[in-house]
Amino acid sequence: MAGFTLKNLSKSYGALEVIKGIDLEVRDGEFIVFVGPSGCGKSTLLRMIAGLEEVSGGDLMIGEKRCNDIPAKARGIAMVFQSYALYPHKTVYENMSFGLKLAKRPKDEIDRKVRAAAGILHIEHLLERRPSQLSGGQRQRVAIGRAIVRDPQVFLFDEPLSNLDAALRVHMRLELSKLHDDLGTTMAYVTHDQIEAMTLADRIVVLDHGDVQQVGTPLELYHLPQNLFVAGFIGSPK
Ligand code: ADP
Ligand code: MG
Repeated sequence: MAGFTLKNLSKSYGALEVIKGIDLEVRDGEFIVFVGPSGCGKSTLLRMIAGLEEVSGGDLMIGEKRCNDIPAKARGIAMVFQSYALYPHKTVYENMSFGLKLAKRPKDEIDRKVRAAAGILHIEHLLERRPSQLSGGQRQRVAIGRAIVRDPQVFLFDEPLSNLDAALRVHMRLELSKLHDDLGTTMAYVTHDQIEAMTLADRIVVLDHGDVQQVGTPLELYHLPQNLFVAGFIGSPK
């Protein structure tokens, strides 16, 4: 397990600077939530941490290690996407075990990890189904399960609940909170939903136009917003 550190981290697409030199230290085991309006750079930031986008400037440290040039699969990071990104023709078991199989892990270890993750997520009874035979919430559990089996140092979540209906979103929010309590792994979570941010986060990072507006605990942001943007964003009902 590890935390991660961003040092003046930036990202440009051509002339467009999408992430503008962010400094942030996330401690080991912290649940950090990035919020901000659509297009402010949340996904880009996560993708850089995951190694799916190249860093344009600054440093990305995972634990003590500088990771700018380390390939995605060697970073010890697992990312869960909004779209789930499951393989439609594979069963739940195959979806969850696929990464470990590619990594040539022994079969009994794979089996143990898949069943343990399925237990945590209450999907043991779904292992032989295919994604088309699952509800949205069940699919998202499989996507999270696929991340858990990899024993990542850091979990990254990019709006994982935004395709679910409101009631299920509340339920899954509680499950994610519990998952964090159980695993104790560092989690970085992106959302544009203030309530999700307030309930999940140890600390919230408010982003706008690729810049950090404020970093603080939910209570700090709620009671002491440093500017109108933060006040509007955190205070506005959804
Ligand atoms: P968010 O996740 O907060 O909605 P994104 O990180 O997806 O924001 O996008 C931030 C900005 O970067 C947007 O202006 C978007 O159009 C731009 N962007 C994202 N990916 C690319 C890309 N591959 N090429 C060019 N521009 C991109
Ligand atoms: Mg996004």
